[in-house]
Amino acid sequence: MFDPWNFPLCTCPVKYSIDPYTGCEHRCIYCYISTYIREPWRVRPKRDFLRILDRELRNAKRMPVSMSNSSDPYPSIERSLNLTRGTLRVLKKHDFSVLVLTKSVLVTRDRDILADMRSVVSITITTLDAHLAKKLEPFAPAPEQRLKALEKLKEREIKMAVRIDPLIPGINDSPAELNALVRELAGIGVDQIISSTYKAKPDNFRRVAGVFKAHAEELHRIYFEENEMVRGVRYAPRELRMKMLKSLRDIAVSYDIPFSVCREGLPLNTAPACDASHLLNQ
Ligand code: SF4
Repeated sequence: MFDPWNFPLCTCPVKYSIDPYTGCEHRCIYCYISTYIREPWRVRPKRDFLRILDRELRNAKRMPVSMSNSSDPYPSIERSLNLTRGTLRVLKKHDFSVLVLTKSVLVTRDRDILADMRSVVSITITTLDAHLAKKLEPFAPAPEQRLKALEKLKEREIKMAVRIDPLIPGINDSPAELNALVRELAGIGVDQIISSTYKAKPDNFRRVAGVFKAHAEELHRIYFEENEMVRGVRYAPRELRMKMLKSLRDIAVSYDIPFSVCREGLPLNTAPACDASHLLNQ
């Protein structure tokens, strides 16, 4: 199931979650997998994954499958291993719908299968600024490449969401820059924008503060003095989260793009489902 911790602010409909790979090579500085995955930046395929998945799906209750929440499903070794492509095939064979989450442009390779099954592809773009993106997500494709991937998916009429996620106070939350990003997404025809704010864990905070030294003191105040705690997770104060996300919501609305927040507990959604799963049935 999607949320084994039953997180109180998660409003997602129930779904399965699968990860063909363990570990992720993008090394986003804000990433939280480093708190619970050993060797988080070393990608390894799961052993015997397709055979086990095929067996498990035979008698599984029908519900959407989310891929992947802990490691990008399109690492560079996927080019030769075709494990994620094989996963899509198995899901299709058993008539399961899929929500793909990625930052990789390799997802466009699988347009043929994705267009032929109930699917939504969510690509994360945290900024249009290539220089800033390089600091935030050092080994992920540049924002321009991710926009091109969206265009290619659109050509096949595949449903698409963009995750502007996370918003980090003072780093990538400028309304003018978000407006420029949303304008691009509207031009491409993105079906939904999903956003959330950065949550600090000791290790990801060390990375963020190390890269954005001029912001470190301010971010420390927000996340370690004025913060809210939700089930042990450090959130920015509610008013600040509301300000950042409402600003983005208003921009999305101005371009007529449905909007939702992820694990924020804020009444800002204009989209029917926070995870874009309603698009699976359109
Ligand atoms: S793409 Fe996701 S899982 Fe991979 S490093 Fe970035 S935040 Fe972590």
